[in-house]
Parts: sequence; structure tokens; C-alpha cells
Amino acid sequence: MARAEGAWSGRHNHASCVADAMTRADGLSRDRGVRLTELRRKVLALVWSSHRPIGAYAILDALKRQHEAAAPPTVYRALDFLMEQGLVHRIQSLNAYIGCSDPEHAHHGVFLICRACGNALEIEDRTLDTAIRRAAGRRRFAIEQRSVEAIGLCPACADTRRA
Ligand SMILES: [Zn+2]
Ligand SMILES: [Zn+2]
Ligand SMILES: [Zn+2]
Repeated sequence: MARAEGAWSGRHNHASCVADAMTRADGLSRDRGVRLTELRRKVLALVWSSHRPIGAYAILDALKRQHEAAAPPTVYRALDFLMEQGLVHRIQSLNAYIGCSDPEHAHHGVFLICRACGNALEIEDRTLDTAIRRAAGRRRFAIEQRSVEAIGLCPACADTRRA
């Protein structure tokens, strides 16, 4: 959790966020016996280029600089794989992707998204998850997928505005 707070601080050592993410992805792929191909690794690294959610076409543009043959299906297939493994999440409201700093953990996908700097922070809140499941259950609704996205100002941007 403490590590994910880096999303709110421009001054943190982001290279170590990326290095940690790649190490986690390699370990997790080995444990699960899935293949983190060169291309999937590259797409994951591009998603991790910052804490701002990135769109598939921005990923494609960056990828094309390395692989001229890269096409949208290539990127979408890699993203699907990364999402299946929990390494990447899709931010529905932005139609963009963000790296997960805790892929081994049970997930409830709650995101705080700063409208000023664009950084997104994933948080875990079991209380919120239980509340949504109960509210749906009372209406006999079976949830298959959900995400909670809150838009606002991160502490750094809020401070800048106050100053
Ligand atoms: Zn970082
Ligand atoms: Zn996550
Ligand atoms: Zn911000």
C-alpha cells in the first residue's frame, strides 16, 4: 500500500516502481506457468511508464517505435493477458490502463483518479466491497464485474491550488 502512494508524489523514485512491477510480473508468471513474452513485457513496461492511466493507442504508438509491425490486435491481446493475470487494470471511465502494484492480492478495483495530474491510485477497501455486494444481493442482482472510480484532486494538486 505504502508503495502505491507513489502515485501521489512526483518526486518518488519511479524507476523502482517499474523495476518492482517487472520483478513481480516475472515471478508471478513463473509461479503460474504462463508466458510473459517479450511483447507482453514491453506492453507492461509501457503501462508502467507512469501512474497515469494510458490508452491502448498511446501504447501502440510507443510500441511502433520499437516494432514497426505492431498493430491494434497485438496490443489488445497483450493487454488481455496482462489483465487476466491481474498485472494491469482497465479504468473504465478513461478507457485506459494502469499497472497493478499488488497483483497477487484479492481485488476489488477501487481507483482514485486525479483530474489535474491524471495520476490514479488503486486502493483496497473491503467495507466498500461488502456494501456493494450486499446492496446488489438485496436486489437479487448477481455482480459479474464492477469497478469504482472516483475523480478528484490528489494531495499534491490540492496543495498547489491552495498555494
Ligand atoms: Zn512510481
Ligand atoms: Zn490491482
Ligand atoms: Zn494530482
